[in-house]
Amino acid sequence: MSERYDCIIIGAGPAGLGAALYTSRDRLRTLVLEKLYPGGQISTTDRIENYPGFERIDGPGLIERMQKQAVTFGAEIKTSSEVTALKKLQDGNIEVSCDKNKYISRAVILSPGSDYRKLGVPGEDEFRSAGAGVSYCGTCDAPFFKGKQVVAVGGGNTAMEETLHLAKFAEKVTLIHRRDEFRAARILQEELLAKANEPNSNLIIKYSTVATAIEGEGKVQSVRLKNVKTGEEEKYPCDGVFIFIGMVPNTGFLKGFVELTENGFVKCDCAYLRTNVPGVFVAGDCRVGAAMQLATAVADGVTAAMMLKQYFRDPNWWNEAVSDALQPGVW
Ligand SMILES: Cc1cc2nc3c(=O)[nH]c(=O)nc-3n(C[C@H](O)[C@H](O)[C@H](O)COP(=O)(O)OP(=O)(O)OC[C@H]3O[C@@H](n4cnc5c(N)ncnc54)[C@H](O)[C@@H]3O)c2cc1C
Repeated sequence: MSERYDCIIIGAGPAGLGAALYTSRDRLRTLVLEKLYPGGQISTTDRIENYPGFERIDGPGLIERMQKQAVTFGAEIKTSSEVTALKKLQDGNIEVSCDKNKYISRAVILSPGSDYRKLGVPGEDEFRSAGAGVSYCGTCDAPFFKGKQVVAVGGGNTAMEETLHLAKFAEKVTLIHRRDEFRAARILQEELLAKANEPNSNLIIKYSTVATAIEGEGKVQSVRLKNVKTGEEEKYPCDGVFIFIGMVPNTGFLKGFVELTENGFVKCDCAYLRTNVPGVFVAGDCRVGAAMQLATAVADGVTAAMMLKQYFRDPNWWNEAVSDALQPGVW
């Protein structure tokens, strides 16, 4: 017999642990299934400066607190438990399958997160640890490069926004893009070009250029650049490399179960975080429209956990439009 829960949460990152705190504190029988160990992406950094309430905290330290808090209220966390499939049963419950075990739950919160798309060049993994110089998040790490020289890689909306953000801190930012024009929204391109064209601008753009290696002794000291049109190569000195070439959501196991976007993000209504499958919510970096931040991932977990109670109260609510009738005061 499969064990039964009120709520199964898939992924013990910030979104999953945020949700688990709320569901377990509401006395709902909660199981968190985590393929590795609790923490998610944030556990790989030792300095967070933008999580409200903590001037500076390390990822593992914050996760330890989140995990302890959820477990104290009764959440059960199973590590080394990769979810491989989900099935909606005729009675409305959801069956969740891991390698060896199956569980049944009244509701599910999907929070398997995303991974940054990698360049796949030598040095990228070596310098990925905090402080070594490779980063995928300007919003998170730009202040650590105050007065330094950095190379940014990308040509989409995020690359434009994050490069402009970097230029507020770094002494010099060089944005490289493999094509001879950007694919970002026109307005963002214009903003970026206006900044690059300012007299004595600290922003340089190199088109038709790719990075072929990231090099240094213990930390990033240069990046090898190649012009894809001329084949010319150069060793370009810098203190950091910011890679803005997209995110890959960890949603392969959800194909055919919930609706995904073309890029694999889980589709949902962004107010209540309902997917197209009744009883299945989504939270954090794996959902369409996610801000890809720690605070927003936690907030998503909390929202999904709150809305889940409404689903238990009235399953037909699933198909109702977003409405201001639904406020905690009237629950
Ligand atoms: C190096 C680094 C530094 C960062 N710094 C900051 C910062 O300073 N400030 C900030 O706001 N944000 C920062 N971020 C971004 C932040 O970490 C993410 O936005 C946040 O972790 C997203 O949380 P999540 O719970 O949605 O997903 P994740 O953190 O990705 O967690 C998802 C969890 O689900 C598990 N999982 C995946 N698939 C399955 C499956 N099939 N079955 C079971 N479990 C599964 C994963 O193992 C993982 O533990 C940083 C990210 C990185 C990588």
